[in-house]
Amino acid sequence: MMDLLIPDKTHDESRQGEALMLEQADNKYNGRKLYIESYGCAMNFSDSEIVASILLNKGFETTTDYNNADVVFINTCSIRENAEQRVRNRLKEFTVAKVKNPGMIVGVLGCMAERLKSKFLEEEKLVDVVVGPDAYRDLPNLIDQVDDGARAVNVLLSREETYADINPVRLNSNGINAFVSIMRGCDNMCSFCVVPFTRGRERSRDPQSIINECQSLFDQGYREVTLLGQNVDSYKWKPTVEGDSISTDEIKGTNFAQLLEMVALISPELRVRFSTSHPKDITDEVLYTIAKYDNICNYIHLPVQSGNSRVLELMNRTYDRDWYMDRVNAIRRIIPECAISTDVIAGFCTETEEEHQETLSMMDFVRYDYAYMFMYSERPGTLAAKRFADDIPDTVKNRRLNEIVNKQRQHSHERLQAQVGKVKRVLIEGFSKKSTNDYCGRSDQNAMVVFPVTENYKPGQYVNVLVERCTTATLIGKVV
Ligand code: SF4
Repeated sequence: MMDLLIPDKTHDESRQGEALMLEQADNKYNGRKLYIESYGCAMNFSDSEIVASILLNKGFETTTDYNNADVVFINTCSIRENAEQRVRNRLKEFTVAKVKNPGMIVGVLGCMAERLKSKFLEEEKLVDVVVGPDAYRDLPNLIDQVDDGARAVNVLLSREETYADINPVRLNSNGINAFVSIMRGCDNMCSFCVVPFTRGRERSRDPQSIINECQSLFDQGYREVTLLGQNVDSYKWKPTVEGDSISTDEIKGTNFAQLLEMVALISPELRVRFSTSHPKDITDEVLYTIAKYDNICNYIHLPVQSGNSRVLELMNRTYDRDWYMDRVNAIRRIIPECAISTDVIAGFCTETEEEHQETLSMMDFVRYDYAYMFMYSERPGTLAAKRFADDIPDTVKNRRLNEIVNKQRQHSHERLQAQVGKVKRVLIEGFSKKSTNDYCGRSDQNAMVVFPVTENYKPGQYVNVLVERCTTATLIGKVV
């Protein structure tokens, strides 16, 4: 899970399709300004683009300054307690703006809205609207209710909603990389996780709508799409059968490997990434598809969570240590150059010292390129909160987390050092953070690469970069 705050910015002016939609928009909301801020995982950032699309179609404009906004939305994450605390702190700041501008509507979207429902309105008196992840189509109606003096809530979860027909407005876009949501929800019920409760049951989006969206992005100049889902490996779409005019292929439907291939075939110049994989579901068919197409990036995010089989069972991850190692071996065999990243939880309920050591030894076995590492944080309503005591003292969790972080630092550095002397194909994303004399972009394996600007190339183009050295997080080289 990403833990980023990305302030919104006005949508890309080059997008003529959106301009056209704005002309056709409903006059009622014309000129009202929307500010939207997103927390948490990539799905939330992608959802904010759907929310913006729904409201821009109604005549709203976006603004980057919440002080000037008529509607301020915060798209929230519930994955850990500190993520929720950050949202509450941010709401306090919006409160100050609302005192100056009493007409401002403040809304909470996403997982925290779904988890707390109308309780949110009791807890946070200045919040006007609470909307869960499956109810964004209802936003104009909910805004109307607030305009009429009410406070509004819609947290209904759906078994069908995929927003397949909504063309997201690309917020905060560099015009090169875009997220494309391919499914919603999760059926896995990992015992530590709130997602099944906040995002509902798993459902896959019609592949043709995904291909159309990716093709349209490519036509607009985007060169990388990341296909998003909580568990992309269980993507499965079947058409609704009406009558008997359906072919055998259609009846079988589309799985994730087939979808990956369909997206890869749009153009060899369009890079394809995906996230997140589940170790129990990632198939050799997916791995062979990645190996077959140069434009499907050699990078897999494969959350391990723990290296110990008993803890994995308590987490309800439905795989054990041996199964996970077998999947890693399959990745190494079929895609030898593949980078692997992971999520790790330190100090899950009842985890012993020996079991923690097994997590460290799993890290030694895989040698992850990158990891998102956290102390276990009990979330209300989850299976773990109901069944197990959160019994590992914070000092112990902290020490175990530090051991995990230190090991990962060493592995990340080693993995980068192994790239020195190699030539990597890099998609230029823009200037490096430190200097306009350097470009930055990502390698196929998702490593950040920095190299001097050369006149012949610009962002959105691919270059071959000879890696000359590395820091702890970046490869540095020159175009060859
Ligand atoms: S796979 Fe597990 S951790 Fe991931 S979203 Fe689903 S329940 Fe949560």
